[in-house]
Amino acid sequence: MRSFEPTRDELSGWLGDTAEKVVDFVESLTTARAKAPITDPELFALLQEPPASEPGEFKVLLDVMLAACTASMETAGPGNLALVPGGGLPVVATADMLAAATNRLTSLGANGQGLVALEDGVMRWLCELFGLPAEAVGVATTGGSLSTLSAVVAAREWHLGDDLRAGVVYHGAAGHPCVGKAARIAGLAAPRIRCVPSTPDQRIDLRAAGRMIEQDTAEKRRPFLLSVTAGTTDTGAVDDLDQAADLAREHGLWLHVDAAYGGFFQLTRRGRALLRGIERADSIALNAHKSLFLPYGTGILLVRDRSALRAAFGCQAHCLRDTQGADTLPDYADLGPELTREARGLRLWLPLHLYGTDAFASTLDEKLDLAEYAYNRLSADPRLHLPWQPTLATVAFAVHGHDDHAHEALLRRINASGRVALSSTRIDGRVVLRMCLLNHRTHHDTVEEAVDLIMACLTPDAPADDPALFPTPLRQGAS
Ligand SMILES: *Cc1c(COP(=O)(O)O)cnc(C)c1O
Repeated sequence: MRSFEPTRDELSGWLGDTAEKVVDFVESLTTARAKAPITDPELFALLQEPPASEPGEFKVLLDVMLAACTASMETAGPGNLALVPGGGLPVVATADMLAAATNRLTSLGANGQGLVALEDGVMRWLCELFGLPAEAVGVATTGGSLSTLSAVVAAREWHLGDDLRAGVVYHGAAGHPCVGKAARIAGLAAPRIRCVPSTPDQRIDLRAAGRMIEQDTAEKRRPFLLSVTAGTTDTGAVDDLDQAADLAREHGLWLHVDAAYGGFFQLTRRGRALLRGIERADSIALNAHKSLFLPYGTGILLVRDRSALRAAFGCQAHCLRDTQGADTLPDYADLGPELTREARGLRLWLPLHLYGTDAFASTLDEKLDLAEYAYNRLSADPRLHLPWQPTLATVAFAVHGHDDHAHEALLRRINASGRVALSSTRIDGRVVLRMCLLNHRTHHDTVEEAVDLIMACLTPDAPADDPALFPTPLRQGAS
């Protein structure tokens, strides 16, 4: 039997071995291809083996863990332009290591103390960045879906109390499905979750929303939540947040801004212009694992009035009666559905302090420039159709005369190159392709190559894996 308490040598050996593999992996990423995951049945059988009763060898197990990582979609490399990528700043691995090794609680101000103060410092900075008042609070979550769930539950509690039956939620057709999902989890009947149509530029049609709210009110239902989007997943469209705030105020609705993708563009001048009005939101969902380049599992919820979160989630647990009274620090257990909670703030705090906020602002500016470059080049090709201006870092395009099937075939040809990975979506009922240039490792050379590839693959009989067509390896990114 191996002791749970490692010797000094044992522990430093494990950490050292892991560190070496991490360094190798991160180094390989600058040239990593956007390849499809391996689906080797033998490997999967190994990965799914139950634990043995006898101890294993750390080095062997480390290799198995790495094999599992490499047999997954290449999300972190510069060529990943699918979905909403985020490269995952490697320095966060050190913060996570510290969080796991020290195993501190951050459920309550009184037991988390230093770590809660550190996390709250980041959250206060964010509240200020988004122009929220002093009563505002921020909570680190695991992602946009969970931030949205907390926001919807808080809005429901604030406006409806115990009587949910007549409550109505409104979200834009181009918004993220997590809003409807959150409303369902929050107990709303599906017919009370209204999908507001989009304008041609993929923003929520606020006039249509106004008419829907008026009709529901006239028919004795209780509209209580308007969810709008700062950066849709499909095209990066940003809703008119100021007008949305006017509408929400006029009808007494909670305004939620889903800024899971676009939120941190607030650090840039162009982003602040696009997000004007966000300071009037009742709640804002941000994903640091998207536009702050952090690893997955890093969401944030900002709420204008912390008492709304407390009303929804506050609970008095007798088992916690000894740990009361750090009034100046937030009790995260009362501000969300979780109780036990790790030192989640470390992974946000470290990169912000290590690099400074200007580094994030200029990297986000680079992404806006890359999208503009890709848009300009693609829209100059008469075969392509790009009616959606890239407001953020996403460029969506269709091919004239291509049906859904032809678009899917084009996507397969582009991705089969193994150079870049794009993804498709459906806009106004039709399949279109898109690339999202949000990975911190994606620079001009990759985008240039992606555009060249798209154009080369437009020829229907372009061979997918002809080495002559894609001869050069991805150059090292130079910004
Ligand atoms: C990614 C995304 C979400 C969902 O966030 P998760 O972290 O995946 O739960 C919500 N809204 C938008 C606009 C997104 O891009």
